[in-house]
Amino acid sequence: MKCDDLLALLNDYVDGDVAPALCAELEHHLAGCNPCQVVVDNIRQTITLYKAGEPYPLPLEFRNRLHAALHERWQHAPTGDSAPTRASTEPPPDS
Ligand SMILES: [Zn+2]
Repeated sequence: MKCDDLLALLNDYVDGDVAPALCAELEHHLAGCNPCQVVVDNIRQTITLYKAGEPYPLPLEFRNRLHAALHERWQHAPTGDSAPTRASTEPPPDS
């Protein structure tokens, strides 16, 4: 197994969804590959954090602010070939 193979399987691996034979290969690679260990650690931490936060819905105010921020961003985002090349955050010129 190579690092690429491991990375391709990672999502399933952290979900405990990888076939046992494949899992053994993966862990064998992991044991000898420090970069892959770091990646797996990071993913596990992220998932733990995510799962820990799962029972708590976003506070309504936070959600509203998030939506407002996203909406703002979408409105100012370039809309394809009609978009000018200037930065989308630039205020419109006074006229
Ligand atoms: Zn590796």
